[in-house]
Amino acid sequence: MDIAFATATDTGRVRASNEDALLARPPLFLVADGVGGATGGEVASGEVRRVLAEYQPGGPDPREQLVRLLKKANRSIFELAETRGLTGMGTTATAALVGGRSVYLAHVGDSRAYRHRGGELTRLTEDHSLVAELVRDGSISEEEAQFHPQRSIITRALGIEPEVEVDVRETGWQEGDIYLLCSDGLTSMVGDEEIAALLAREEENLEQAAAALVAAANERGGHDNITVVLFAPGTSAPRRAGARSRRAKQRARKGGSTFSDSLSSVRGRLLLAALALAVVVFGAWLLNHNVFYVGVQDGRVAIYQGVPVELGPLAFSSVYATSDVVFDELEPYEQERIMRHELRSLGSARRVVDGYRRDGEPGAPSAWPETGGGEA
Ligand code: MN
Repeated sequence: MDIAFATATDTGRVRASNEDALLARPPLFLVADGVGGATGGEVASGEVRRVLAEYQPGGPDPREQLVRLLKKANRSIFELAETRGLTGMGTTATAALVGGRSVYLAHVGDSRAYRHRGGELTRLTEDHSLVAELVRDGSISEEEAQFHPQRSIITRALGIEPEVEVDVRETGWQEGDIYLLCSDGLTSMVGDEEIAALLAREEENLEQAAAALVAAANERGGHDNITVVLFAPGTSAPRRAGARSRRAKQRARKGGSTFSDSLSSVRGRLLLAALALAVVVFGAWLLNHNVFYVGVQDGRVAIYQGVPVELGPLAFSSVYATSDVVFDELEPYEQERIMRHELRSLGSARRVVDGYRRDGEPGAPSAWPETGGGEA
């Protein structure tokens, strides 16, 4: 079967390295977004790519194959973390396998799969993330979730625990469909409507479409690594010659089509208690692994250790160091940046705070009057 595809990955404009990984080996495709200090994220996302590359066509049920491979990657990352002292590293994984007239999808985390069909974009995966849970239980709207400061906190990842639950689904493909797998570096910067518009504009050339998506995320700030995998079953690579005429036929057919998706796994909604537990577990993991953010305490800019989340009486962060920078004296854009509470390494948090000190002032006081700022 012909499957046209294109990929693009980019460090973005803020991060120092790219911890995303991808695999595009038709009929199998993968996007993975690694998390974890030091080189952990890269190791974790690279490991799921390595395990998925072991895929051999012609096995049993494709859904079972995908689940088995992701669970194998989970165990492998978990064990690597112990042997290499990279405890706490993990990765998202969103994998797609084209077989027959179906696309099989398996995922853990918040890297998404979408289908673009007839100008319409449909999300095929549910994020395993804190804000997605808050949307599902009605606490916040979809619009609030899109740019929520805590949108990068995931509640499920490969490599964190010895066992992991994988969501799987099967969906039928039609000629003209474009499937998109992407890391949250795209979706946290670019809304679904804009993704749909870009895919509609560039549908004749997947390479250009992939490049345009990455460029759009970078134009919005490129706060995270951006990875995009596009594939179009039933279309010969590399150019989608004749796609337009097929699409025209498809549009003509469209009125009477009775397309049905089948969800093949139980994706039971997490109860709030389970959510709290997931956040506690994940929050504790992050706390132990040197996650920091910049915030405000008693009017002064401070570095917090942990995650900027409160769930009822539970808080998942504490003040690590307070600076002499007065919040009210900062420019509005600087204040806004602080209130985003982005997760950072200690070094990054210190650089951010040091950046708020008025440079070049002779005899400027130390930014870290109380603690000396901890280790460098
Ligand atoms: Mn990411």
